[in-house]
Parts: sequence; structure tokens; C-alpha cells
Amino acid sequence: MILELEKNISSENKAKFLSKLFEKDVHFREISFGDRGLIHVQENGDLISLGEFSGVNEVRSSQQFKLASREFKPEDTVVDVGGVKIGGKKLVSIAGPCAVESLERTLEIAKRVQDSGAEILRGGAFKPRTSPYSFQGLQHKGIEILAEVKARTGLKIITEVIDTETIDEVAAVADIFQIGSRNMQNFSLLKKIGKTKKPVLLKRGLAATLDELLLSAEYLLSEGNPNVILCERGIRTFANHTRNTLDLSIIPTVKEVSHLPIIVDPSHGTGKRNQIYDMSLASIASGADGIIVEVHNQPSEALSDGFQAIEPSDFQKLMRDISLIANVRQRHF
Ligand code: PEP
Ligand code: MN
Repeated sequence: MILELEKNISSENKAKFLSKLFEKDVHFREISFGDRGLIHVQENGDLISLGEFSGVNEVRSSQQFKLASREFKPEDTVVDVGGVKIGGKKLVSIAGPCAVESLERTLEIAKRVQDSGAEILRGGAFKPRTSPYSFQGLQHKGIEILAEVKARTGLKIITEVIDTETIDEVAAVADIFQIGSRNMQNFSLLKKIGKTKKPVLLKRGLAATLDELLLSAEYLLSEGNPNVILCERGIRTFANHTRNTLDLSIIPTVKEVSHLPIIVDPSHGTGKRNQIYDMSLASIASGADGIIVEVHNQPSEALSDGFQAIEPSDFQKLMRDISLIANVRQRHF
């Protein structure tokens, strides 16, 4: 169970409560969530009768997820990525190649997407590939390139962290950690990333339900990282006209049950270059807080996911038109 200490709880009452937890020998830990004082008590909460303690209340949620729920936090979470806000009136546009391939190419793409209005550059250095024989990313070299491009353009950087060993290395350049679909339920990775305060984009697993996605978010939140952004990136279905089935209906549902921002990845969501424009507009029409799109200056030569990358000129058109849709939702890029 998760307990919340009232803001004005006396230090005497708090001490009394904590000593009861020690006495009962229950496993518990304090969680910092903004200015709210929370304590997670490992189930068997029935060992403690809350009635005895004033200033301590159970966090109520009709869902399994607690901290991610709108019942716990009614107002929308706005994640601040060094001044770029995700989840507010202003929508976010994230663009760039699937993988970092070279300094020249990354810089060229970065400048083009920046000119069109993207504020965050995407690009994988450590790539989780289905086949061990596929390009695994430039790894350490890729991180160095991202650092250089960041310094030269001022763009914020999102890049994937695929394991616990490389967290520090990725953190040195990333403004947002990307947790990929395949790692959505890598709980030891989630716990470690949760201990940092750095914003994190949590991509929906290939076959994850909404509850599973939000419970993974709960791992990050309950470790003390409130800066969680969700990402719909398509799920595996029987449909074979696309790589994945983009589930835009998750957006209004997330908005109903959770306070967390959600953005959409129409590149992985469809796997088809010619569907990215339509699905990007539809994402914003559906209430998403932004998009993350794969853009490459020579898609046919891309080392990964070229078939679902659009060219910089198409991205420019996309950004122009998507603003019209944003207006309908009283939002803007
Ligand atoms: C990616 O963004 O390039 C990626 C691998 O995404 P996902 O985890 O959604 O497949
Ligand atoms: Mn990709």
C-alpha cells in the first residue's frame, strides 16, 4: 500500500508512525514525489491500523497503478526538459534518425528538423535490434556524436538506454532517456532509471495493455522520478498491412485515467513512410502531447528503419500542416 503523509503532520506523529513500521518489521520505503511525502509499505498493510495515526492516509486509486493515476494527481503532469515542456499547451516535436550513423549525417538531419520546428533530436546510439546480425548502433561513438550535435545546435537529445551498465554514459548526453518497447518491462532497468530525476520516455511494449504500460510507469514514479512521458508506438496485431497497429484510442483513455503526458511515434506505429503524415495529424487530433518521428536525409541508405523514415522536406510539410490540427485542440507547436 502507498501512504501519504499530510503536509502538516507533526514530527511527533510521523516519528510515532515510522517507529510502528519498524516495530512491526514491515518492509517500507519513503518516496519523494514533488512536495508530497509518500511511504510505500510492502503489502500486509493490515498489520498497521491507520486509524491510530493522524496525518497518515492511504493513497486511494481504483486502479492497480497508484502514483500514475489521475485520482492521485488530478492536474496534468508537465515534464520540463531543460525548458522544453511536455504535457502543457505547447506540443512537442521530436525528430531525427532511428540510429546515429555519422557526425555529418546526424548534424545535417538535426539542422533540418530544427529549422522545421523540432526542439528535440532523436537518435539511437545503443540499438536494441531483433537480429544480433543487424546494426547495433555506433554505441560509445554514437553518444560522442550526439554530444557534438547537441553542442552545435542547442537541440535537446533523446536516446535509448538499453541496459543498466550504460545508464551513466547515456545520461551524460541525454536530456530524456528513451526506454524502448522491448524494455518496457525490464524492471531492474526501470528501477534504476527511476532513481534518477531525468525525464524518461517510456514506450509501450509490443503487446502491452494500458494497465501494463502504466504499471511500468509506476516503477519509475515509485522510485522517485516524476518526469515520465508515455509513448504509443503501435502494438502487434493480426493486421499485416502495417508493421504495428497504432492504437490512438489509448490517448483519450490515458488522459482519463492518468495525469502523465503521452506522445505518439507514427514511425514505429505504422512502419510505413507513407502513413506517417496522416497518423501524425491523427495523433494530435486525438489529444496527444506531441510526436516522435524518424527523419533521415537518405532513407534508402539508412542503417536501420529507413522504410519508416521521412525526408526532411516531408517533415517540414508535416510540421506546417500539423499546426492547423493543433489549433483545433487549442494547442500549438
Ligand atoms: C526506436 O525508437 O528506434 C525504437 C527501437 O523504438 P521501439 O522501442 O518503439 O521499437
Ligand atoms: Mn527505429
